[in-house]
Amino acid sequence: MSHTLKYCRRNAHKVRIATQEIGGENPIAVQSMTNTPTADIERSVEQTKSIADAGAEIVRLTAQGRREGEALAPIVARLREDGYSTAIVADIHFTPEIAMIAAEAVDKVRINPGNFRTSGGELERLIEICRRRGVALRIGVNHGSLAKRIFDEYGDTPEGMVASAMEFLRMCRTADFHDVVVSMKSSNTRVMVHAYRLLVEAMDQEGMTYPLHLGVTEAGDGIEGRIKSAVGIGALLADGIGDTLRVSLTEEPANEVPVGKILAEYFNGRTAEFSVESFESYSPTEFRPRTAAKAITHSEITSEYDIIEATSDNPTHEWRAAILNRKDNRPVVIRRRYDYDNPELVAIYAAADMGSLLLDGLAEGVWIDAPALNEAQIHEFELILLQASRLRFSRTEYIACPSCGRTLYDIQTTLAQIKARTSHLKDLKIGVMGCIVNGPGEMADADYGYVGSSPEHITLYRGKEIVERNIHQREALDHLIEIIKRDGRWHDPE
Ligand code: SF4
Repeated sequence: MSHTLKYCRRNAHKVRIATQEIGGENPIAVQSMTNTPTADIERSVEQTKSIADAGAEIVRLTAQGRREGEALAPIVARLREDGYSTAIVADIHFTPEIAMIAAEAVDKVRINPGNFRTSGGELERLIEICRRRGVALRIGVNHGSLAKRIFDEYGDTPEGMVASAMEFLRMCRTADFHDVVVSMKSSNTRVMVHAYRLLVEAMDQEGMTYPLHLGVTEAGDGIEGRIKSAVGIGALLADGIGDTLRVSLTEEPANEVPVGKILAEYFNGRTAEFSVESFESYSPTEFRPRTAAKAITHSEITSEYDIIEATSDNPTHEWRAAILNRKDNRPVVIRRRYDYDNPELVAIYAAADMGSLLLDGLAEGVWIDAPALNEAQIHEFELILLQASRLRFSRTEYIACPSCGRTLYDIQTTLAQIKARTSHLKDLKIGVMGCIVNGPGEMADADYGYVGSSPEHITLYRGKEIVERNIHQREALDHLIEIIKRDGRWHDPE
């Protein structure tokens, strides 16, 4: 029996978030998050407005303590008075009591099953407030902050993330509460994509149709951050998975919105269909490389590689079908022409089209055929795309959080300074995280970490081990470089 591959949106039930409805046939909604201190009502209102003005339908604010939780009601009131109907979400870690305060003020509450207490009926109480006020809930699983119990059983795997989400979803279902959205974020695009697909399988098996919020965490900034987000989010959207999304960038929050819009709109109305004889060699939930060939850019192609060009309006499925129908095991380079002169657009589209094939192990090389761009730029985009898809690491990897109301220092400037001094250390992964509460877990596999520990103070990590605690920011970068030197992993720029 042959199978048909075509673009088809996953069937998710509708969830209302203020005036915004997501799921079903609704357009994919774009979100961003403030990075002002939430207790600073004035600045938070202004930044929320600037994100909404950029086109976001949903804006999230962190509420780490009572002061921040109590600031949410006046923030929402001010926005409504000023004519903003933007859906407002509170981001909660650790403290169920703050989630209850937030649920009295906002349109949606995000909780993290990895750190939300449930033993005393906290989730049921939160659900009751949400039900009474018409507030939605997001079960937001993060790869880097799984509960110890889950971690001990599954490790930090996609399976562990799914188990964590399913526990909470079952509790919601038992409480007959369905205004729930789920997310499975990771800074590792392979883990992220496979976790979402595994979650869809698990939900299908239990007859659940909760809508999904997509995102790659700690994607960094600039073109790297855009390509990394497009790889993860695009791989899922190409298969019709996803109802809302956030592109996390270590930049001004409003910058995230146009990138999110490009992705949200890119997959609409794809018509081309393909057939596949067998899926035997393929798994959507694990990396199964077809060959052991080196991952390459188009300028490195040798006679060993075959080129597969996609020309339809549905390139991801066109390549997938062509590769799965092959009888040989020669490595392949996937190629597509992009007739745009905007480099950012070419990079985002190519990453969104090609990422899925790279993450699943179906393709070994990429060819972005963009006549309007110069050769050096295309080569750079191809290398970043291979790195974002975890096939080939050719540059320093920065796992940088987008910052939020918990951030303890100016992360955008600091990231630029760290990059300026370390970007020649090609085999290192450096985490640059705004706070110590979520930072260390979420930079997961970084070699070194630069993490905010108190206002303008930094704790430095080697892997998961603390090397220097709470030193002033003005000396932190020099100390980080000293540590890298002591470890013998430093060399001077060429
Ligand atoms: S690591 Fe901390 S500061 Fe950065 S986005 Fe996460 S919670 Fe906010």
